[in-house]
Amino acid sequence: MKKPISLVLMAVLCLLPSFVLAQKRSIGGVPQLQGPQNPRLAFVIHGGAGVIARGSLTPEKEKEIRTKLEEVVLAGYKALQAGKTSVDAVELAIRMMEDSPLFNAGRGAVFNHDGKNELDSSIMDGKTQAAGAVAGLHHVKNPITLARAVMERSPHVMMVGDGAEKFAKEQNVELVDEKYFFTQERWDELQKILKEEKTKLLDKKSGEALSPSSELPYNKFGTVGAVALDKDGNLAAGTSTGGMTNKKYGRVGDSPIIGAGTYANNNSCAVSGTGWGEFFIRLTVARDIASMMEYHALPVQQAADRVIKQKLQTAGGDGGVIALDKFGNIGISFNTEGMYRAYIDINGKPVVEIY
Ligand code: ASP
Repeated sequence: MKKPISLVLMAVLCLLPSFVLAQKRSIGGVPQLQGPQNPRLAFVIHGGAGVIARGSLTPEKEKEIRTKLEEVVLAGYKALQAGKTSVDAVELAIRMMEDSPLFNAGRGAVFNHDGKNELDSSIMDGKTQAAGAVAGLHHVKNPITLARAVMERSPHVMMVGDGAEKFAKEQNVELVDEKYFFTQERWDELQKILKEEKTKLLDKKSGEALSPSSELPYNKFGTVGAVALDKDGNLAAGTSTGGMTNKKYGRVGDSPIIGAGTYANNNSCAVSGTGWGEFFIRLTVARDIASMMEYHALPVQQAADRVIKQKLQTAGGDGGVIALDKFGNIGISFNTEGMYRAYIDINGKPVVEIY
């Protein structure tokens, strides 16, 4: 009788330290304690932040989104395991989300005020600080691939509009008819907002003051992004978006602005943001998180929270970020109700979260 009890006791004692360690390594479900002795491959994606109230998604839609996020995060992680670079993994994952109508990027891009899709994207290599960005695209199937082409095959960082599309053609980056980006759901969203705008205009005519909320952009986002740490310890970040529904023709948000929506530097972190772009640009959100780490030695989660939950919040903006430091520690922060996101935990398992 004594033997089995002592065996159980021994097993418990042996397992206890790893249990405690696992607990310590998990803050809010996010692993935290990677250091120079135990860096790891790391991969995190987001599919946009915004008002995603519980229950506002049908169970089917939520399942579809979760399944896609898991598929994408696993694909990026497998690429890293196979020895691909962080830049490769970021491009691969973002292409997959651009090809899905579920997200506001590529295929599922939102419509601007004129009923057109105008796409923005950027990518940055944390090792070299090389960066590529594109904005105001109408025909590029995968803007992230064009951003990478600008980074690697041009002397520039940013190209926009017709010129960027001319460059896409020269570089054999796939172009599609504008119809490719049409989705009924996004079209209906625009029509709804245009109708609301008209009503507000009538209010104005009748002399009634506009409510402050009427100045807010439509509060549902869906931009995509990825951050990665590869086997050589190199970070990369990328972001792709259709922008914000009903944005003015020619408006460019933060997603293609290096230092605002995207940033990567092996000395600090890789960041991809999503949210109200005008605020992300003014606050240089991505670079600010990196600066917090560089100048104040803040851990990545704290740096992300400081910028999103304090600075962005105080300024009146909303959105979120995913971030990674050079050891594979993850920082995830948002001040919206939800943010579609997925990461690989310290056991190599995919974790998908919305709220
Ligand atoms: N940040 C994007 C923009 O302002 C929108 C988003 O993230 O949903 O263009």
